[in-house]
Amino acid sequence: MAYCDNCRYFFPVPENTDDYMPGKADCIREEVDHKGSFWLSKPVVNRNIADNCPYFIPRFIVET
Ligand code: SF4
Repeated sequence: MAYCDNCRYFFPVPENTDDYMPGKADCIREEVDHKGSFWLSKPVVNRNIADNCPYFIPRFIVET
């Protein structure tokens, strides 16, 4: 099972912001239509199940 926090479009809300809550994040994706590209954003939480999301792309973790 995949979760939103496994997705490359998952951006956690920084701790130093007013709307910070543990697990809270924004799903930010770039879309392109005939006029050009634009960004879409919506609130998500880390444990949202992503299995049925058509936009899910696994994030790559680079271990050093
Ligand atoms: S809603 Fe979909 S695209 Fe957005 S973070 Fe979750 S799995 Fe990724």
